[in-house]
Amino acid sequence: MTGESEPVGLNDVSVLVPSSADEAVAAFGDGNGVTVVAGGTIVMPDLSAGRLRPKSALLLGRAGLAGITRANGKVTIGAATPVSALVDADAPLAQAAKHIGDIEVRSQATLGGNVCAVSSDDTPRGDLQAALLALGATVRSAGKGGERNDALEDFFADGAGRLVLDVSYDDVPRQAGYAAVWRPHTHHYTILAVAAARRDGDLRIAATGVAPRAVLLDPESPLESLELRDDALASAWYRARLLPRLVTRVLADLEEDG
Ligand SMILES: Cc1cc2nc3c(=O)[nH]c(=O)nc-3n(C[C@H](O)[C@H](O)[C@H](O)COP(=O)(O)OP(=O)(O)OC[C@H]3O[C@@H](n4cnc5c(N)ncnc54)[C@H](O)[C@@H]3O)c2cc1C
Repeated sequence: MTGESEPVGLNDVSVLVPSSADEAVAAFGDGNGVTVVAGGTIVMPDLSAGRLRPKSALLLGRAGLAGITRANGKVTIGAATPVSALVDADAPLAQAAKHIGDIEVRSQATLGGNVCAVSSDDTPRGDLQAALLALGATVRSAGKGGERNDALEDFFADGAGRLVLDVSYDDVPRQAGYAAVWRPHTHHYTILAVAAARRDGDLRIAATGVAPRAVLLDPESPLESLELRDDALASAWYRARLLPRLVTRVLADLEEDG
């Protein structure tokens, strides 16, 4: 095979396999030329098809970045935690996790990979993002300028090229709701999902499947400032009709929950 789509031979890539979080941060450095490989459910197909041509690949599987802890009023989830470990997490994160792909994908895919996933031309990705936005999650990352903590929405705005270490949110009681539409298929993808959480009267509501990454919504006018697009799963027209209905369902869930 020649040209743009020529697959990268393993010999052309330096493979870094850190055995601790500190080693991972050191190996990542400022991230220049480094491709992070977590579960690999997005990266590996891109590598083998020649869509990605990294100088070095940083494999996170042995870096000790997996696990869920509850301490000091926070829930902290390591970047390499598999999605399958989140199916019993707090709502609405658990509902989002349960419906990602199938058991094979959920066992391999990670939280960090989902947070960093950008929708492809064919399908939305990043179902956990809406749930984490609703929970008011913050992201701890390493890279240029050192370690940083950002609200997830700020990380989406300027966190590209950083190494995600973990994600945290407050460990407090809240009402939660989740509604989604899937395309029935063995390895199904979510067409559109809405997640909400309310705590002390403060409502946060977010959606995936409406932009390259999840976005916070105004519940009064959820379509405002969205530029919906067609993909292989659904048209922008269909999504524009579906989104307000999912928002109504999620708001009703919140009332029942609380
Ligand atoms: C059949 C199938 C069905 C799927 N269904 C869904 C679905 O329903 N919903 C959904 O949301 N997704 C779905 N996906 C996409 C994908 O599996 C998930 O988004 C998954 O969570 C990605 O995680 P990963 O660990 O495999 O990411 P990887 O492929 O390892 O990485 C994805 C991207 O994130 C970067 N990255 C990974 N970890 C980090 C980190 N810690 N710091 C910085 N960058 C990082 C990588 O460099 C890459 O750019 C599906 C995929 C397949 C193959």
